[in-house]
Amino acid sequence: MRSISTISRRGLLTAALPLLAGLRPAGADVIFTPEQFIILPLRIHLLRSQVADLNCSLTPADARKLLAGINGIWRQAGIQFYAESLLEEKAEAAGLYASLEASRTEAHLRLIRPRETRTPATFHLYLVQEIRPNGVCLEFSHELVFVKATAELRRVEGGCREFLPRVSAHELGHALGLEHRQDTFNLLASGTTGTLLNETEIDLSRLNAGKFAGRLTPQQAMQMAVNRGGNGSALYEVLAALPGGGVAAEARKRLESLRAMRPRPTS
Ligand SMILES: [Zn+2]
Repeated sequence: MRSISTISRRGLLTAALPLLAGLRPAGADVIFTPEQFIILPLRIHLLRSQVADLNCSLTPADARKLLAGINGIWRQAGIQFYAESLLEEKAEAAGLYASLEASRTEAHLRLIRPRETRTPATFHLYLVQEIRPNGVCLEFSHELVFVKATAELRRVEGGCREFLPRVSAHELGHALGLEHRQDTFNLLASGTTGTLLNETEIDLSRLNAGKFAGRLTPQQAMQMAVNRGGNGSALYEVLAALPGGGVAAEARKRLESLRAMRPRPTS
C-alpha cells in the first residue's frame, strides 16, 4: 500500500509532538514519500594548505561518511544532497589569509575558495581545519558554507552522535534560508547536537530547495545516473537511501552492479 499522504502524516506527527518532545531520535520519522524528495547537488571541497588552519585533515572517505550523516538529518525534510563532486584542492590566498591574523573576520573565508571550482550551480561545502566558529554560512549563500574538521558541540538527548554532520547540516540549513532557533533539540540551535526541524522550517527549506535551479526529482536523478554510466554512483547512493521500494530498490540494484564491475586491485 502507498504510504499515507504527507499532510495527514505530518498532522499526526504534530499532534504527537508534546509526547515525543526530546525523545524523538533524529531523522527517525520519514514523513515524505520517495517521489516528494528534492535532491540537491553539493560540491565538497577538502581544502589543503601549507597554512595549518586551512589544511583539512579529513579524507575523501571521511567526506563520504559526512555526506551520509548530513542526509540522515535532512531526510526529515525530504531533502537530500548528492556529491556533485568531491575535491581535494589547494586553498586560495592562504598566505594572505594567514597574514591577516587578529584582524581576520569570518568574511575573509571567501578568499580561500579555489577560483576554478566556484560556481552558483551547486551548493558548496568547504572543509577547513580550524576557524573560530564550528562552521559558518555567509550571507545565507549556498556558495559560502565553511565547516571545520575540529568542530565540537554540546551533546543533547536524542542529538546527532557526531559533530561534523550536525554542524554541516546546520550550515546547509542557513543556505536553505533558515535562521537560528534556540531550542535545544533543534537543528538551527547554536552549538548543540540537536537535529530537529519544525514544520515551518521544513516548509521554508523545501520551498527554497524547490526553487534551486540544479534540484532534481528522484526520477530525474535516476535518469542522470543512467546517462552517466559508470560514473553514476553518487546519485545512486542517494537514491538507494530513499524510503520505500521503487526508485530506491532500482538504485541499489544498479549500485551493486556498478560495484561488481569495478576492477579489483591486482596486488
Ligand atoms: Zn548558525
